[in-house]
Amino acid sequence: MSKIKHAKLPEAAPAAPAASTNGGGRDYPRIVVPPPGPKGREIVKLDKTYSSTSYIKEYPLAVSHGKGAMVEDVDGNRYIDFMAGIAVSATGYCHPAVVKAVQEQAGKFLHICGTDFYFEGMSKLCERLAQVAPGKGKKRVFLTNSGTEAVEGAIKLARSSTRRTDLIAFRGAFHGRSYGAMSLGSSKAKQRAHFGPFLPGVHHIPYPDAYRTETGGKDLSEFSLSFLHELFRRHVSPDDVAAVFIEPMLGEGGYVLPPLKFLQGLREICDAHGILLVFDEIQTGVGRTGKMWAADYFGVEPDVLVTAKGLGSGMPIGAIIAKESVMKWESGSHGSTFGGNPVSCAAALVTLDLVERELAKNARVMGERMMAGLKKLQAKHSVIGDVRGAGLFIGVDFVKDRETKEPAKDLVHDLVQQSFRKGLLLLPCGESVIRLAPPLVVDEYDVDTGLRILDEVLTFLTR
Ligand code: PLP
Repeated sequence: MSKIKHAKLPEAAPAAPAASTNGGGRDYPRIVVPPPGPKGREIVKLDKTYSSTSYIKEYPLAVSHGKGAMVEDVDGNRYIDFMAGIAVSATGYCHPAVVKAVQEQAGKFLHICGTDFYFEGMSKLCERLAQVAPGKGKKRVFLTNSGTEAVEGAIKLARSSTRRTDLIAFRGAFHGRSYGAMSLGSSKAKQRAHFGPFLPGVHHIPYPDAYRTETGGKDLSEFSLSFLHELFRRHVSPDDVAAVFIEPMLGEGGYVLPPLKFLQGLREICDAHGILLVFDEIQTGVGRTGKMWAADYFGVEPDVLVTAKGLGSGMPIGAIIAKESVMKWESGSHGSTFGGNPVSCAAALVTLDLVERELAKNARVMGERMMAGLKKLQAKHSVIGDVRGAGLFIGVDFVKDRETKEPAKDLVHDLVQQSFRKGLLLLPCGESVIRLAPPLVVDEYDVDTGLRILDEVLTFLTR
């Protein structure tokens, strides 16, 4: 078992490698003053005085600007970003094509309200999303401002389309912060504490986690699906269930990939009972996993897919994409003042172009490189219990002991904090997982340099 130290790393800037395959002469990462520097401290102080106490603020990063996978803070420190503002900045910071589309649209009109009027960008984005959605049949699209709003709308759509009430979701799931989305969530008790009561008729079953589920020798897919059968046998009639909501790869809950057969089995059960299968691809969608959708890995077509995060490269936009047979709700039954904002639509159209043309592939190639590097780190550091993922959606699960798999929460906390001070931006998820979800534009230099910092910090913390 590794001894974990909670001491501080030296604050000195990490020296970038002298040469790399394509990154020679890069000027990041670069720590010129221990963060937060004087300007950063001013912002942190102001924020702490007036902003909501509910904000998390993982570490005191005060951003000035970014380019590609590099973020610069207000004091001139430069970081490699391995978290993309929670898996959002798909095309990196300030991709010229995205910036151009945003600027052009901003010069025409900022708002008109797509619920009530027409504009080309919105119609084209609906067409585009309907075409790239998994499965062949015709789809329809409703545009939102955020992931939560897409989940909320999908709950309403599922209930109104099936005329049923109940919903099934998974332990560890995160679907957002509004009441419907929160009711489906089961990621952290803190996110629900004192906010109840929640939507009635929501039932949670375990998410299949190949690393942490004890199946007693049974097949993980069958074992996990047995909870659904049990639910239908004892607790709720499947005829009352409108939809099953699932992240086809679990995000906030720990970057967990379910077995192929599990999602296929879930599809079959939903079909047998007329239950809608809703994929929450808010974190996994738009090229993040190396394909346009995580669903594409499983060959499973959901009835409804919700997405957001990477779709607008940082401009706020989300979508509910549903089979035409499902999205038949009456005119006026659902709407949104800002959903499908013209500037966000413009950013999303260019983002989809870039992802389709090059970034999904880059996510696959760079994801493989990152995964190979992490496997080497796993061989070196016994605190790394598991490395899993697809494309640039990678989870590194830290344990105190590989036998007991006890989560190494303090280590993950220290790793995130100390990596920041060495010029690498990380984010945790699950109990003791670091999620690696960089902008999809990362290259060899970014991947190799980020992993080198991770190695250095881990070596220091576990020596
Ligand atoms: N669903 C999933 C899978 C998410 O990861 C998130 C955000 O992290 C949400 C829903 C909520 O999205 P938003 O924060 O845009 O409301």
